[in-house]
Amino acid sequence: MRIPEQKIDEIRQSANIVDIISTHVQLKKRGKNFIGLCPFHSEKTPSFVVSEDKQIYRCFGCASGGNIFKFLMDYKNISFIEAVQEIADFIGYQLKMEESNKGEDDELEILYDINLTAARFFTDTLYKSSEGEIAREYLKKRNIKPQIQKSFGLGFAPSGWNNFYDHAIANKLDLEKTKLLGLIDKKENGKFYDKYRGRIIFPIFSPNGRVIAFGGRILENSENAAKYLNSPENPIYLKRKSLYGLYHSKEEIRKLDKVILVEGYLDLISLFQNGVKNVVASSGTSLTEEQVQLLSRFTKNIVVLFDSDEAGQKAALRSIEILIKSDFEVKVALLPKGEDPDSYIQKNGKEVFDDFISRAQNFLEFRLRIFEERGMLSDPNEATKVIRETVRIIALVNDKIKQGLLITSLAKKFNLREKMLESELIDYINKQSQQKKPQKETERASSGILELKNNRDKSSTAQTEKELIRLLFSGDNEILSAILHDIEPSDFNSIIFKELSRIVVENYEDGLIAPAHLIEQINDSELKEYVFNLLFNEEEISPKWSELSHNGEIKKDKIEYAIDSIRRFKVNRINEQLFELNKKISETSDSQAIYELMKSIKDLEDEKRSLMPNSKNNNEE
Ligand SMILES: [Zn+2]
Repeated sequence: MRIPEQKIDEIRQSANIVDIISTHVQLKKRGKNFIGLCPFHSEKTPSFVVSEDKQIYRCFGCASGGNIFKFLMDYKNISFIEAVQEIADFIGYQLKMEESNKGEDDELEILYDINLTAARFFTDTLYKSSEGEIAREYLKKRNIKPQIQKSFGLGFAPSGWNNFYDHAIANKLDLEKTKLLGLIDKKENGKFYDKYRGRIIFPIFSPNGRVIAFGGRILENSENAAKYLNSPENPIYLKRKSLYGLYHSKEEIRKLDKVILVEGYLDLISLFQNGVKNVVASSGTSLTEEQVQLLSRFTKNIVVLFDSDEAGQKAALRSIEILIKSDFEVKVALLPKGEDPDSYIQKNGKEVFDDFISRAQNFLEFRLRIFEERGMLSDPNEATKVIRETVRIIALVNDKIKQGLLITSLAKKFNLREKMLESELIDYINKQSQQKKPQKETERASSGILELKNNRDKSSTAQTEKELIRLLFSGDNEILSAILHDIEPSDFNSIIFKELSRIVVENYEDGLIAPAHLIEQINDSELKEYVFNLLFNEEEISPKWSELSHNGEIKKDKIEYAIDSIRRFKVNRINEQLFELNKKISETSDSQAIYELMKSIKDLEDEKRSLMPNSKNNNEE
């Protein structure tokens, strides 16, 4: 599927970014803009700004930003085409898809289609084939009801080497793409074979319900095969960004404002079937920051529910840190020895389970209990290590009051003076911020944009060029025509401005000049950040602005300001040329050459004079 650029532009222009973002983020009007708490990083004071007149958003905390499509793609974890579709639906725009074989979005659609074909093949095999009988038996033994099996799309991969491969051929699937998705693989002799054989299949859904990957659990324990086989990462499946079960549980998580994190597919399905529906599974990998970010859109309260074996404890400890860093209220529940969530809820039912969850410990209690059980707290050396490590984790808590309470309870537990732990905490926080700073400095120093960012180049030329670039991203057709009529990208001194103006010119030719369009055409992240800063700090960077925008009629004065900027730009260029010519005169003694140079200087000075304000009046006198 492919939507023509002009249509995308039309859709973007018909939707208001403020309307769409405010259905997900609470926004308050602040001057010309709207502000709110950023949905892409955790914060207590708003640094997320939405510009209604430019139709873009920007977070000054985590540097995310873009137009309305970018917002939906990141917020909902969906593709560009899905974001366009969603906004078209929102504004009631009839989208007719055009068939085409090219384009990245079509590539992704092909991958989704292959996964869908595979998912159907696996469910058909589970329910309709005689070979599916052992899988049906297994699921029955695990007490998974047919209705739940269907809603989670469970399937079965038969044990042969080419069942799915034959199906792929019959359905004319692109074999290389099918291989990319990890459904088949190629032997050295070039022959394809099925990757999933004799496994129960758990499709993994994106948050909006598309099949992005598969997990396969082996049915018969065999020494040669891993218990679980998962899809490799590919363009539609990033492991670190997906959570098993989220598509099914997101509404309940939002409703209860709480999520339970379990480890495995079957744990989740079993809880779900017993009425506990606010669950997600990390499915074997340790929790990532991206997964936590995804979750934080639904709730910030989490109970980590892991097995009580050592692997489970370790996974829980690791998850805690990431969750705390993202401002989650973290509790931990470790199941009785030998139980997993599936066995526990089947044995005890929902009520007992709910009660067990409600008694989950906060992360501090949990940590100390684990180390106590390991006997580490009775040895002074070990205990010191544990306390230090715990203070380090408390330092990650953003809420200062909560931090204080945690320090108090840690002090109580070990009979230590609170002040001592506090100073340990402060030392740690200071050390952290010292370590962070130089690192960031060096990162930035490596880029040529540093000069511009720090605004060190205060020369008139650099300032004027910067103003022109800002105006080129203003979305005002009259201003763009005026500037582009007189100035070409190659006229700019700075490479960065050359590049930015080139982007504008290319899109101007197609009639696409809205800042919300242009900003997404900049691929380089630093250049993009530079333009964001220009667009959101216009009053500050332009001292002239306030002079021209008296009466509050900024729009009316903008073109005059642009014309003035063009004039200053030209004067600057003439000054540079004059400087060069004068230098040449001082370097030569050839009178003919000097005469020619003087003539050029005079022409340039005339031109410069004609550019000066009130020059017409002067000439007439
Ligand atoms: Zn942010």
